[in-house]
Amino acid sequence: AQAQHPQARMDSVFVASALAERSVSPEPHAVDVAPDYTGYDAYRAHGGYSLAAALVNGEHDAEAVIKAMEDSGLRGLGGAGFPAGRKWRIVRDQPAPKLMAVNIDEGEPGTFKDRTYLERDPHRFLEGLLVAAQVVGIESCYIYLRDEYHGCRAILEAELARLYANPPCPLPHIELRRGAGAYICGEESAMIESIEGKRGEPRMRPPYIAQVGLFGRPTLEHNFETLYWVRDIVEKGAGWFSSFGRNGRKGLRSFSVSGRVKLPGVKLAPAGITLRELIAEYCGGMQDGHTLYAYLPGGASGGIFPESLADVPLDFDTLQPHGGFIGSAAVIVLSQHDSARDAALNMMRFFAHESCGQCTPCRVGTVKAATLMEAHVWDTETLEDLNQVMTDASICGLGQAAPNPVRCVVKYFAHEVRGAGAAA
Ligand code: SF4
Repeated sequence: AQAQHPQARMDSVFVASALAERSVSPEPHAVDVAPDYTGYDAYRAHGGYSLAAALVNGEHDAEAVIKAMEDSGLRGLGGAGFPAGRKWRIVRDQPAPKLMAVNIDEGEPGTFKDRTYLERDPHRFLEGLLVAAQVVGIESCYIYLRDEYHGCRAILEAELARLYANPPCPLPHIELRRGAGAYICGEESAMIESIEGKRGEPRMRPPYIAQVGLFGRPTLEHNFETLYWVRDIVEKGAGWFSSFGRNGRKGLRSFSVSGRVKLPGVKLAPAGITLRELIAEYCGGMQDGHTLYAYLPGGASGGIFPESLADVPLDFDTLQPHGGFIGSAAVIVLSQHDSARDAALNMMRFFAHESCGQCTPCRVGTVKAATLMEAHVWDTETLEDLNQVMTDASICGLGQAAPNPVRCVVKYFAHEVRGAGAAA
C-alpha cells in the first residue's frame, strides 16, 4: 500500500480528534482551553491504552517493543537525537528503583511542536509514557512542563485525573511539575535539578543521568514528542516510521516553521527534506514580496545558513559539516528584508540572558560577544577567540552552541559585518 502523505495523515488525525471530541463532555475549563483535543473517552474508544494495558498484563512482549523502537530509528526529538530504543535498554539494565523525567520545557526559540501535539492528543503521549515506564521498569514519572504553557497544564491536569479515575491498567506514580521560565531548564540535567527543587544548573557528566539522575536514581529522560510516537511505532510497526524519509534519511520530523513563509506552523515531513522542499511543499512558498535569504534550522542554537545551502537535507548530523545542527527542528526563514547579523546578535543577547552563570566562559563570553557584535564592523579575530573558549570550556550545550550563529555569519554573511573598505 502506498504510504499516506504525512501532512495528510496529520490533518486527518486532527480532524478525527475534533470529531471524536464532540461526542464526549470534557470539563468546562478544558473546553475553554482547547475544544478540539482528543479526550480520554475518545482516545480509549479508538483503541487507546490497549498497548499499555497489554504490556502491563503480560500479553505483549516488552522485548518486542524495544526492538520496534530500535528498528524504527526513532531518536530523541528534543534535539540531542540519542536513539530512543538504545536509551531504553541502558536504563532498563540499571538497578531499581528507576525514574522517568519528561521534558516539555520547549524553550528553544521557534519551537512549538510539543505544544501543538499536546493540545490535540495528550493521551497519545501519556500512553507512550506508560509503555516506556512498563518496558524499562520505571517506578515514578515526573513531567516537567514550561510555566508559559497554561493551557497545556490545564489539559494535562484534567486528562491525568480522568486517567487515574478510570485506569486501563495499574499506573505508575506520575507528577506534573511546572518550570519557571528558564531556558536552561530544557537541558536534561538542569531540568532534573529543577525537579529536585534546586536552582536549574546543568551537571557535569559523567555520571550520566541514565545511571545517576533524578534523586540519585537511574533516570530515563525523554522529550515529549519522542514518547508521542511510541504507540504508532509499536502498532504500525518499525517499518512504518522508517518508511518515511528523503535524501537517504529515515523517519518523520515535526518542523516548527516560522518566519517569511505563507503558511507557518508545525509541519510533519520526511526526515531529510531540504529547506527548499519544505517551503515549497508544506509552507505554501515564501510570502509575497519576499525571497529566501537565510534560515535557522534549529532555533537559536543550530546556526544560520544562506539560501545557497537550502538544498542540504534537514536531519540529525547533516548540518554539522556546515557549522550547525537541526536540534528540535525549529526552522526560522528569513528574507531579503532581514539581516543575519541582527538575528545572530539577538540570539547572543538571548544566550547571555539565559546563561545560568555557573561557568565563566559562558557567563562572561556571551555578554562580551554580544557587545562586540554591536559594532558596525565585527572584530572577528577577538570574536573567534571567545568562540573557541566557549566551545571548549563550557559545561553544557548552551555555552558550547552559543558561537554557532556568530561563526555562521562570519562564514556565510561576511558582507554584513565587514567594513566598506574591506576585501571581499
Ligand atoms: Fe550554565 Fe552556560 Fe555553563 Fe551551561 S555553559 S552550565 S548555561 S554557564
